[in-house]
Amino acid sequence: MLDPQKIRADFPALHQLVHGKPLVYLDNAATAQKPQIVIDTLSHFYERDNSNVHRGLHALSMRATDAYESARSRVAKFINAADPAEIIFTRGTTESINLVAASWGSANLKPGDVILLTEMEHHSNLVPWQLIAKRTGATLRYLPVIGADAEGGLDLTRLDSLLTPEVKLFAFTHVSNSLGVVNPAAELCAKARARGIITVVDGAQSIGHMPVDVRALDCDFYAFSGHKMAGVTGIGVLYGRRAMLDAMPPWQGGGGMISNVDFFESRWKPAPERFEAGTPNFADAVALGAACDYLDVLGREAIAQHDGALACLAFEKLSELPGIRLLGPRGARSGLVSFAFAEVHAHDIVTFADEDGVALRGGHHCNQPLMRKLGLTGTTRASFYVYNTAEEIDVLVASLRRTLKFFGAA
Ligand code: PMP
Repeated sequence: MLDPQKIRADFPALHQLVHGKPLVYLDNAATAQKPQIVIDTLSHFYERDNSNVHRGLHALSMRATDAYESARSRVAKFINAADPAEIIFTRGTTESINLVAASWGSANLKPGDVILLTEMEHHSNLVPWQLIAKRTGATLRYLPVIGADAEGGLDLTRLDSLLTPEVKLFAFTHVSNSLGVVNPAAELCAKARARGIITVVDGAQSIGHMPVDVRALDCDFYAFSGHKMAGVTGIGVLYGRRAMLDAMPPWQGGGGMISNVDFFESRWKPAPERFEAGTPNFADAVALGAACDYLDVLGREAIAQHDGALACLAFEKLSELPGIRLLGPRGARSGLVSFAFAEVHAHDIVTFADEDGVALRGGHHCNQPLMRKLGLTGTTRASFYVYNTAEEIDVLVASLRRTLKFFGAA
């Protein structure tokens, strides 16, 4: 069991007043706060070790290179990848998915091919596929979401019939950022693999909240962002199966990714360098390694239990509010709850909550097609992390009651 009161001491940003009220930070699905050890690791790197990696032969460059490559090995261990070369550092989930779409997609997709997505995808796991589909003549297909609200999840009964021979790639999210549903990723990957279909898992909302083992999932690619797992912004990862990466063309050209350059031809290094053109974001990668250490000390099973329990408690308490529509399953869910009121806009709720020191997020959460399907313009989302407490849910509920009263909806 996590002790959030103790954990809070590790996160300096939590100890502040907002509009004179103690901050209740419930916007963790957008970005999580950073523990002091991650902030210190970043400062320490800039204070002592900063130098460009790979091409230097002096002490600082060698130290920086060691720290960068150690971070790669640390991330590989964090997700149980077979080989650190399977870890490509990117800017985040969005860039990781764009890399697969641009590189694998341009080399492998042709007219008649189908990319299978789900209706609950974040724009980051949707628009890159639209772009590459347009360029290659492939088409998109969607696994539907069932139920308008409470039980909303993927309609798995439809999956077998949608995985036809034209499907070359299946991209889906591990955890929905607006429904809170945890998808059965291993089962989805197994069905795809049995038909020779490549899988891309969007791990943005899962990576910091539960154990992730890419070999147990048996996916081809897994994409995630550092800033949602107590790491800093501007760094993320694409995990790719080694054999897949070595068969893929570069997606960006520049220094660091070549073995030889001539005026008219060049040859590429293998992964991961092939996909890291230019100066990589080595300092933030080192800080990401520290975030992996921090989360593993807490224990990712314990984190999953803590965040899931808070979300279930919030779901129960919120369901007592008049006129509320709660999205996603009532039972087991990841650490977030999304809800809507017919009479009060999500932006008003978030603005009122801010006056009470509560940080929420309101809007379409980069899920516009899903929101349209659910007949909503947006929702309000409360998302939890290791430092959130049951008492903070009471503050949230009290704030919502105040807002509903103001709008005459309670
Ligand atoms: N996928 C999902 C499910 C997300 O929640 C997010 C972040 N909101 C992303 C992708 C994109 O992550 P990033 O903006 O860090 O690239």
